[in-house]
Amino acid sequence: MQLAILGGGESGTGAALLAKQQGYDVFVSDSSRIATAYKQLLIAHGIPYEENGHTLAKIIEADEIVKSPGIPNKAAIIQQLQPYTLPILDEIEFAARYAKGSIIAVTGSNGKSTTTQLIHHFFTKAGCRAALVGNIGHSFAKCLTEASYDYYVLELSSFQLENIQYFKPAIACVLNITADHLDRYDYAMAAYAKAKLNILRNMTATDHFIYPKEDPSIQAYLTTRTILPQCYPIASIPCPPLSNSPDVWHFNIQNQVVSIKRNLLSLLGPHNQYNATIAITAALLAGIRPETIIKALPTFHGLPHRLEWCGAPQGIDCYNDSKSTNVASTAAALRSFKRPIIWIAGGKDKGNDYTALLPLVQEKVKAIICLGKDNRSLIETFGCLALPIRETTQIIEALRFALGLALPGEAVLLSPACASFDLFKNFEDRGNQFKTSVNIIEALNLNR
Ligand code: ADP
Repeated sequence: MQLAILGGGESGTGAALLAKQQGYDVFVSDSSRIATAYKQLLIAHGIPYEENGHTLAKIIEADEIVKSPGIPNKAAIIQQLQPYTLPILDEIEFAARYAKGSIIAVTGSNGKSTTTQLIHHFFTKAGCRAALVGNIGHSFAKCLTEASYDYYVLELSSFQLENIQYFKPAIACVLNITADHLDRYDYAMAAYAKAKLNILRNMTATDHFIYPKEDPSIQAYLTTRTILPQCYPIASIPCPPLSNSPDVWHFNIQNQVVSIKRNLLSLLGPHNQYNATIAITAALLAGIRPETIIKALPTFHGLPHRLEWCGAPQGIDCYNDSKSTNVASTAAALRSFKRPIIWIAGGKDKGNDYTALLPLVQEKVKAIICLGKDNRSLIETFGCLALPIRETTQIIEALRFALGLALPGEAVLLSPACASFDLFKNFEDRGNQFKTSVNIIEALNLNR
């Protein structure tokens, strides 16, 4: 059997290694340069590849094609392949063919990595053989070539779910569906939601679906279709006297009633309480004991660049939320503080509508520092509020402006609501530069 793989990044290379191990004749084709580390892996495994362009004639020799998630269905190469009616699979679908353990899949617009990592933390603390894979940065397919696991905790983006035919998780968590990546979906929320909810496609009555009770896209989907898995709608805001009280989570999962103190979770913000509700529900459904979850919660410290405390120059707490690249995640960050915030925002605007943030900014924000090449949209939206607004393209200057405006007890928050590519390599680079700036200013203050 011959397999052509489009894309030579983490997913494509992972799929190539798995295909080779499974006895396929493999060829990798990338429209751009393949990173050196991936090229070395392909060479070491004797896998032929091409880069900086696709050779259609070579690709169509294959019996099947595996597509990396970064390649949209409207990409030229996918369009050119249409007349040949070759099966085009996603990497996760190809990988799932060979996975023997249960799949716990997590998708959503925001909170995927945090929730996936927390579920994996519960499994690990329970002594289970569980892999952490997918969009979190480790190819599912590559993981299968290295070891076998009883559980695969799999983070999935909408891109990875678009073409699902057979993929079937035992537990699916859809955290939320809010505007993001709409450029890939012709600016249609329904198309974006459809891609995410494709996760349900093959789930059966023995499987479990965990989702936000109030989400309009999911509600619309559920009213037009019959779905088979057992459903666990979760309220995103705990509101007594409903099932969850403000201080304690109450779970009633498969006739097991479990109460867990909420303050065992050290992560900031109501959104993280919500993420944890989803993660605990998934863990209980998978059979993890409540005692293990209670013991594991305090040792989960979250991920860098997500509301990460990174120092307190001049006694002012600074938070790095560089991973916040859309309006909903910045709303979550602003809701997490009771004290006044000096907000550093901006970057590569994905056509954001900031108006949803107006009430929160009015309530919580004392000043705005715009850190982007083009800040017009931010200034147009928030100019009507009587707040100081400064602009810069230097992250250390943004921090200096912010600290100059903050009083002790207030907080400086980098939560851009935008992608980072105008001024930085990626969100990690932006977050790391912010943390370095905090350290530099702290050190300068100490030496004074
Ligand atoms: P993802 O993998 O979906 O990007 P992350 O866990 O990496 O999610 O978090 C990305 C951003 O979203 C961070 O700024 C984080 O604080 C914020 N966030 C996390 N969970 C939620 C949630 N449930 N709702 C809204 N924003 C969230």
